[in-house]
Amino acid sequence: MDTSAPRPFKATPYWWDDCAFSALPVVPLVPRCDVAIVGGGYAGLSAAIELARAGRSVQLFDRQPIGQAASSRNGGMASGSIRPSRKQLIRRFGQARADGILAEGKAARQDLAAFLEAEGVECDFFLSGLFDGAISDRECEDLSHHAELLHRSLGIEAFAVPRNEVSRYIGTDFYAGGFVRMDIGGLHPAKLLSGILRVARTTDAVIHENTRVLGTTQDAGGVRVATSRGDVSAKKLLVCTDAYTDGFDPWLRRRLVPVRSRIIATEPLGEGVMGRLMPRKMMYGDTRQLSYYYRPSPDGSRILFGGRDGTTEGDPLAPTTHLCSELGRIFPELAGVGITHSWFGQVAMNRDMIPRMFTVGDTVYATGFCGSGVVWARWLGKKAAFKLLGQTEKAQSAFDFDPPPKAVPLYRGKPWFIPLVYSLYERRDKRAMRGKNESPKG
Ligand SMILES: Cc1cc2nc3c(=O)[nH]c(=O)nc-3n(C[C@H](O)[C@H](O)[C@H](O)COP(=O)(O)OP(=O)(O)OC[C@H]3O[C@@H](n4cnc5c(N)ncnc54)[C@H](O)[C@@H]3O)c2cc1C
Repeated sequence: MDTSAPRPFKATPYWWDDCAFSALPVVPLVPRCDVAIVGGGYAGLSAAIELARAGRSVQLFDRQPIGQAASSRNGGMASGSIRPSRKQLIRRFGQARADGILAEGKAARQDLAAFLEAEGVECDFFLSGLFDGAISDRECEDLSHHAELLHRSLGIEAFAVPRNEVSRYIGTDFYAGGFVRMDIGGLHPAKLLSGILRVARTTDAVIHENTRVLGTTQDAGGVRVATSRGDVSAKKLLVCTDAYTDGFDPWLRRRLVPVRSRIIATEPLGEGVMGRLMPRKMMYGDTRQLSYYYRPSPDGSRILFGGRDGTTEGDPLAPTTHLCSELGRIFPELAGVGITHSWFGQVAMNRDMIPRMFTVGDTVYATGFCGSGVVWARWLGKKAAFKLLGQTEKAQSAFDFDPPPKAVPLYRGKPWFIPLVYSLYERRDKRAMRGKNESPKG
């Protein structure tokens, strides 16, 4: 018998157990507006707040009920981090922009905290800090340099953790060392979305859920937006559809690859186990290509453990079984532990793994959050709004790219290459892990 096979679990996000979204009132389409927004996640709703507060007439369209996509399915790690290293950023964009990108993460994280405070949004936000585990000595060195850089250039409390101190942060001997940064926190993602929605609904922005945008065309007055409930005209269009971009914008679709990310929630583990495995109640990640991200639930009762899913169709059991066994690899005492939930959502990858906003004619885009949108989607949604308002200074961002990103080669909306890339990364990780086991630690 396969003892690692999970017992029955819910296929919906853990977050939805205590945060439900009620249906919004159905209201008529407004034939003309200043700005039409496609997508009602963190990005679209945050933009709607800024635009409506500045007196613009706004209509937001989402093809699903609000609260179904990535913004209520994610891990709730408010990281605002960027995948490429500083070295890679400098090589690609030069030193000034690379530094601008890193500095903007700090501003965006602070802005999120200020928003929660100012608007009274209760979403279990706590500045927990993040522990990133290294799987080899070489990666320990890289993390140590990164910590030093964050501390020196941005004044962030960040430090390397040698192997003999790892157990102060996490109850495993899986890692060769790690790195801690204290500026990253955790939150309840669905409560965050619900809070942003509540604030948006205090403005005059009109929100149409269950209304699919079918296509857009440029016309004399701006943009004609065809929706499943009729057409409207808008002076400007803002696209915030990220990994859920469908055929309404084939041009954008060729620039964003939707990749499934999956999370499992363990059954309640008890205070003793949680205290031993996650003594500081931090957010956790590691340096593998197919890296895993994990954390305690906000009530501290269980572990939420996530990673790439590797599938593109259906909802097979294999990715859940895989996550269960990876959880057991990091925490051997959790091998075979029960899980209560396993769900997936889509993250949008682009060619250079950098979130961005960009403009094409009367359309502004804020998309491509590469699995790190809790901070970035809200921030760039806001920045896009300032851009549409012509507020140049507030709109300034190192993530405002011109020209727009290039299309992903050989890709037209069906990510046929995901299983290949996934198994390539898996092989690389296995090689790195073999290296780790061979090299003496200490
Ligand atoms: C499992 C998982 C774990 C994650 N963990 C983290 C994490 O811990 N930390 C972090 O920072 N980020 C994480 N992310 C990423 C983060 O959730 C996203 O980057 C972020 O939520 C994107 O927000 P958004 O507003 O851009 O898009 P979304 O919230 O995805 O919203 C896009 C919306 O566009 C709508 N739409 C698409 N096409 C149309 C159309 N034609 N007409 C009308 N509406 C349309 C969709 O219905 C959808 O509601 C995770 C994502 C997933 C899936």
